[in-house]
Amino acid sequence: MEEIRALKGTKDIFGDEMRKWLDIEDIIRNLCDDFGFNQIRTPIFEFTKLFKRGVGETTDIVNKEMYSFIDKGDNDITLKPESTAPVVRAYLEHAMHAETQPIKLYYISPTFRYEKPQAGRQRQFHQFGIEMFGSESPTADAEVIAIGQTLLKRLGIKNVELHINSLGGPECRKRYNETLKTFLRSKEEHLCELCKERMDKNPLRVLDCKNEKCQQELQGAPTILDTLGESCKAHFEKVQELLTAMNIAYSVDSSIVRGLDYYTKTVFEFISNDIGAQGTVCGGGRYDKLVEEIGGKPTPAVGFGAGMERLLLVREAENKDAVSPTYRDIFIGYRGETAMVEAFKMVNHLRQAGISAESDHLQRSIKAQMKYANKISAKFSAIIGESELEEKSVQVKNMATGEAITVSFDQLADSVKKMLSETL
Ligand code: ATP
Ligand code: MG
Repeated sequence: MEEIRALKGTKDIFGDEMRKWLDIEDIIRNLCDDFGFNQIRTPIFEFTKLFKRGVGETTDIVNKEMYSFIDKGDNDITLKPESTAPVVRAYLEHAMHAETQPIKLYYISPTFRYEKPQAGRQRQFHQFGIEMFGSESPTADAEVIAIGQTLLKRLGIKNVELHINSLGGPECRKRYNETLKTFLRSKEEHLCELCKERMDKNPLRVLDCKNEKCQQELQGAPTILDTLGESCKAHFEKVQELLTAMNIAYSVDSSIVRGLDYYTKTVFEFISNDIGAQGTVCGGGRYDKLVEEIGGKPTPAVGFGAGMERLLLVREAENKDAVSPTYRDIFIGYRGETAMVEAFKMVNHLRQAGISAESDHLQRSIKAQMKYANKISAKFSAIIGESELEEKSVQVKNMATGEAITVSFDQLADSVKKMLSETL
């Protein structure tokens, strides 16, 4: 029969790899607790129009990367290519705007984009993201950036740079679009087809073109920072003052425009030098117009999305032994049928007491059972045979030192706990 394989650009996560994921997810949960963000889980699919409206018709994501389909009820549906628009939809649908602001949310979610698979780029990948609604204060921008910085620090990732920029509000943007269009028109014949197309509709998108030739032509393009109005300028300066006060290193980089249409004012990226071209591990910014765009009252908001796969890649590159290997507290072996029942009774009892215990499911010889105990890195082991059954006690061996003590069956859980605390 023909072998069935996973789809291109998707991955199974299991074994050691899975443990690395769980470890990062734990770190993220603790991090979000410390910063006061609550988790939200939105569905894996949404009406396509949410993303068209939210992410923007002229973005790469909406233009060519969406997994869209018509379901049996004739609904136009899309697997989420990002989670900000869904979180905004949920914010409105559940009237979170009527609660005390700010609303601080985070998610860890599968994300789907039809892209060319390569290192750090998949078709199903995962994003950790945070969103803060209801504050236009630069303190919100700084807090969001601080979460990103703290996450990288807790993951032991050092070789990253924070680049920040401001895209201004609608007024600055309008002014800038005109200046930029004039510049782009002077370069028109050298730009790719897509850039030519976008030049008039959404000139900012041209700056984000992945084509190297275009990027060369774009050197010397006017920067938006020169066109910022007074209040946007003051906001950006305050963000920088806060970052400096928080001891967060950054550089202002006018080439950061982000791939999504909804950003206003502050945008930022954390870029790693360890994983080649796909170096952006975390990107975000302020999106004060999005809630309105999706149908709510004007609501300021700021957030970021971080690629979990890329975080794992960077962590691996810098910090190979970040996750410690698995182990069991104790292995209980047995000799014979009666002892087998006692062993599984004992293992179950130990597990109820919160001790990670294991026995043998393959009817191995005693020698092979001990080999297995080593293989699963058991800290202690005990073998039950006829005499142990008779005396209702067993020798518990410290696998590292070889030392053994005799413990009665009914004292086993307490003794193992005591020995575990002593070997710490
Ligand atoms: P890129 O420029 O690399 O395509 P992007 O601007 O499309 O990134 P965002 O939409 O901001 O990225 O997504 C946030 C983060 O999600 C990225 O910084 C990256 O870490 C991760 N990411 C984006 N697309 C993919 C993908 N196809 N596979 C794995 N991770 C991805
Ligand atoms: Mg992309």
